[in-house]
Amino acid sequence: MRITALAGGVGGARFLRGLRAHLDRTPTLSNATVTVIGNTGDDINLFGLRVCPDLDTVMYTLGGAVHEDQGWGRADETHAVQGELAAYGAQPQWFGLGDLDLGTHIARSQWLGQGLSLSEVTARLCARWGLPDRGIRLLPMTDSPVETHVVIDGDGDAPARAIHFQEWWVRMRAGVPARNFIAVGMDRAAAAPGVLEAIREADVILLPPSNPVVSIGIILGVPGVRDALRGSPAPVVGVSPLIAGAPVRGHADACLTAIGLESTAQAVAGLYADFLDGWLIDDADAPALGFAPRLEVQTRPLWMRDVEPAADIAGEAVNLAVKLRRHRPGANPLAGE
Ligand code: GDP
Ligand code: CA
Repeated sequence: MRITALAGGVGGARFLRGLRAHLDRTPTLSNATVTVIGNTGDDINLFGLRVCPDLDTVMYTLGGAVHEDQGWGRADETHAVQGELAAYGAQPQWFGLGDLDLGTHIARSQWLGQGLSLSEVTARLCARWGLPDRGIRLLPMTDSPVETHVVIDGDGDAPARAIHFQEWWVRMRAGVPARNFIAVGMDRAAAAPGVLEAIREADVILLPPSNPVVSIGIILGVPGVRDALRGSPAPVVGVSPLIAGAPVRGHADACLTAIGLESTAQAVAGLYADFLDGWLIDDADAPALGFAPRLEVQTRPLWMRDVEPAADIAGEAVNLAVKLRRHRPGANPLAGE
């Protein structure tokens, strides 16, 4: 079975780790391969280095190297370099860069500088963490630089201004209302090699509980991605990023507010309405009211407190997709298995 998933950072990575665990423990699915289309809208240049936070979170989590409590960055991390940068007064200091993590950014920047594409660099980095051996391919959504910027009000009478997403998210902790999100560079971007094929040729497509606006929403803006999802013969099953209408971590509610939506599982499903077939929501968000009639909604606990519950959630998403696949006209339920 070929599974394709769109993913942001922590929410996506924890779901994908659960997904791989579920596949590995299920004899009929242990040969399944997973292609992850990662968000690169969070990418930023810092101290001359190209930093790709969401790709790295997925890579470290699936590679067993993530800082578990934090959800991103490396376990057993030190911050000697950051201390030196602070001593020089080098800016910015609000973005955490550990020493081990810097190794990744230096290697990436070196290879990009030598002319490799971000896809090629990502494959090299992931090889070290054994992702290919575990049947996981991590693709950046695009090889062109795309950066999410956030429009915020100016101080006093000053006009509105746009700042990098990381400044809004990390430095301001989304404490200033966002008026809009702009994917700078998207007009010149093309899907990275393999991205559209992975959607078109998948047996199952999954949307992990990633941020619907600044993770999944940005990936959906890559030319061709949304059309490929609409046209794909594979069922698309998503997992709600909300529990009782609130994000488990982070500020997804502030992102939904910025685009004029309520923080509900219904509103998030509405963002995917043109291609979503199945939707897992938390028990706490139960009322199945307000969902599109053709959407198959299932309710269960959605807190990924550890690998096991994440594996159970992912397993249910896969089962729902397989069930929906059987109901598709002309679909062969055993294709690709
Ligand atoms: P980010 O790039 O690190 O912000 O990560 P993602 O975009 O992949 O995912 C962030 C979203 O994951 C948050 O908005 C949360 O709503 C969601 N999330 C985090 N932990 C959980 C969880 O345990 N269960 C569910 N359902 N969603 C979660
Ligand atoms: Ca992110």
